[in-house]
Amino acid sequence: MKILVTNDDGINAKGLWAVAEELKEVGEVVVVAPDREQSGIGTAVSLHHPLRISQIEPLVRGIEAYSVEGTPADAVILALDVVTRRQIDLIVSGINGGANLGDDVLISGTVGAALMGYLQGFPALALSVATSEEFHFEVAARLAVVLAGKVAASLLPSKFLLNINVPNLPLDKIRGIEITRLARKSYVDLVEEKHDGRRKYYWIVRGAPQWNSGAGTDKQALDQDKISITPLHSNLTDMEIFSSLQTFCPLLFQKLNPVQGCPHSGRKLIDKCHSPRGSTPN
Ligand code: MN
Repeated sequence: MKILVTNDDGINAKGLWAVAEELKEVGEVVVVAPDREQSGIGTAVSLHHPLRISQIEPLVRGIEAYSVEGTPADAVILALDVVTRRQIDLIVSGINGGANLGDDVLISGTVGAALMGYLQGFPALALSVATSEEFHFEVAARLAVVLAGKVAASLLPSKFLLNINVPNLPLDKIRGIEITRLARKSYVDLVEEKHDGRRKYYWIVRGAPQWNSGAGTDKQALDQDKISITPLHSNLTDMEIFSSLQTFCPLLFQKLNPVQGCPHSGRKLIDKCHSPRGSTPN
């Protein structure tokens, strides 16, 4: 099997090479990663400047490696279309230094790279270790090997996106694996104002997160020293408010033209909204 390894911490990050080296055991590995750290850039794609890609000396012998002057998602697109001609069986993004839990999957570059692969029809893993220093990458790397083996044996769907967070612990301290849902998280983001002598400038500082981490969430699993695996998909449609919005839909359309919207055009407007309940605007 052929495995693409990428990340958002940059081509020289230890986590990237830790998983690439382990994956050599199960297949041919090609590394295509951004030339610098880009954590927090999500699935951003560069559309306004050209992209350059350079083959580099790998940090692990026997691995073909390329550095991309672009985002993690750019790296995946170039890896698929230019480097491998889409001959890839699995995409592994990581191992990120730091957890990617809950709502942060929407801004994570680690998840963003995996998501780009998933959107293009490939199975993809986003791998993170929950710490900011002195990483234990070995368990996450082994898990990638085990999952890659399952892909090779066709024991997993042909397309999936798994967000995996591993406690920063040796294997004998980890208490199992849990399939989880995303916790809800909100940051009280702070803005620090500074002055460079000429102008003001600002830092966005991530404040203390406020977690809503109930049973079965990725955050709770990690807090219990378990590996969290959250299957993700890309459908962001909010079905919870879908029906209540449908009720308002005729009125919304009518309000676009307040002069002519009433009185007898109501039926037409409802039809345009395809309201299943036939509710009348009021
Ligand atoms: Mn990162």
